Amino acid sequence: MARRKMAAGNWKMNGTLAALAEVDRLLADHPDPVSEVVLCPPAVLIHPMAGRVGGGPIAVGGQDCHDKTSGAHTGDISADELRDAGAEYVILGHSERRTDHGETDALVRAKAEAALAAGLSAIICVGETEAQRDAGQTLDVIAGQLAGSVPDGATALNTVIAYEPVWAIGTGRTPTNDQIAEVHARIRTELAGRFADADGFRLLYGGSVKPGNAAEIFAIPDVDGALVGGASLKAGDFGPIIAAL
Ligand code: PGA
Repeated sequence: MARRKMAAGNWKMNGTLAALAEVDRLLADHPDPVSEVVLCPPAVLIHPMAGRVGGGPIAVGGQDCHDKTSGAHTGDISADELRDAGAEYVILGHSERRTDHGETDALVRAKAEAALAAGLSAIICVGETEAQRDAGQTLDVIAGQLAGSVPDGATALNTVIAYEPVWAIGTGRTPTNDQIAEVHARIRTELAGRFADADGFRLLYGGSVKPGNAAEIFAIPDVDGALVGGASLKAGDFGPIIAAL
């Protein structure tokens, strides 16, 4: 099955309204990308960013959502609210959420169910720590996170999987091409055990993707794009990554 390539930018807790000028630059430089482009800014920027891209070639996403639809959850945002603000995607289970907020696979799965019910597409993150890799546990960790975090309602149309080794995020270090290929192949196999359309799921690599290494990473089998942190903040960095897809 042909899979449309994707570049997703995760701005994390970076950017104010002034940063939306980068979106204008990106649109000017890449008015008609062949690949799918998603930007996930801080929650307060979702609505203004969605207005700025105005149904154009860049989609907007959130970085998290609550697993409930509404109620007494101070500081949280529901999937419906993200959708209402103009988001089409939501990143779930990022390692920074798993670490900073103690998110478990079960919670990530509940959030993904809420996201899909709201009509959002989920970008579900998995990845091993350096200690787990050193202990030879990488593939087991990934399989466990997939089994626990990906809901039964996932399809190739509503769910994207991002492989983000925790030790490669924001460090400038990346796995070897063979290591990325090995994990992506395993993710595909795990999905095939549960989903009839496993072949259509996009699998993104994330962790220190830069203009200088994007083309090489995108050439790896079963890599359908990237989830990009630091290099998604500036059009001058993210643009070349989009162009490399
Ligand atoms: P990075 O972050 O590209 O800055 O390494 C990736 C991510 O956390 O999604």
